[in-house]
Amino acid sequence: MSNIIIDHVSKTFENSEIQVHALHDINLNIDSGDIYGIIGMSGAGKSTLVRCLNYLEVPTEGHVYIGGKDLGTLSESELRRERSKISMIFQHFNLLMQKNVIDNVCFPLIIKGVKKKAAREKARELLKIVELSDKEKAYPAQLSGGQKQRVAIARALASEPEILLCDEATSALDPRTTSSILSLLKQINQDMGITIVIITHQMAVVRDICNKVAILEQGHLVEHGDVTQVFLNPGTKAAKRLLKYEEADSDG
Ligand code: ADP
Repeated sequence: MSNIIIDHVSKTFENSEIQVHALHDINLNIDSGDIYGIIGMSGAGKSTLVRCLNYLEVPTEGHVYIGGKDLGTLSESELRRERSKISMIFQHFNLLMQKNVIDNVCFPLIIKGVKKKAAREKARELLKIVELSDKEKAYPAQLSGGQKQRVAIARALASEPEILLCDEATSALDPRTTSSILSLLKQINQDMGITIVIITHQMAVVRDICNKVAILEQGHLVEHGDVTQVFLNPGTKAAKRLLKYEEADSDG
């Protein structure tokens, strides 16, 4: 089971001079199999929230449960095991530029101690899924943005995660490439049963593939629910603003 429960999570960043309240008392349930969009303007707290889901950020208050386990109560080794069920992809792909495509995909497996031959077999299966079989010897610098993100997705899948976190994964891509990456994510969700959490500032991304959406504004969860419901009947100013922003964006 890979459901996620975010229970009264707050996060405050402190340094000697200032305190930033990045998240205020967030409560959210993400069910196993969801494609859950978390949307908000820049600075709303999206990245902080998604980093709390794998405890790269430890919440100042509250709990995060993955498959019923409270991440805050786990030992280092237990936390590592839980984290291995969660993969992440990023806006700028984070590929190893000195390694070719297949070695990038193999990397998490080699780290885990998988033998090179088995790792390569697995990587080839994954490259087939992301339709990059013909590029296994290419280096990241020789690939388009969409192809780089496909490599990153294949690498994220190598550890057979139950949850895939996508942090602005399509924000650096043009609309057509965005659409093909979103179709791939949907296919992965359906075929592999992987729960997907998508952090984005683009309503179009949420509309295209998410079944649920949560809207963050200045660290507060202001609205959440079924995507169709929120789109047809936005209940908050923040949701209306994001929908308007999308219309303006698509008008060019
Ligand atoms: P978003 O992803 O929605 O753009 P972030 O989660 O990155 O928002 O940031 C939310 C708020 O927390 C912002 O005000 C940001 O400046 C602040 N913040 C994020 N990370 C840190 C940090 N490590 N130290 C101090 N402030 C931070």
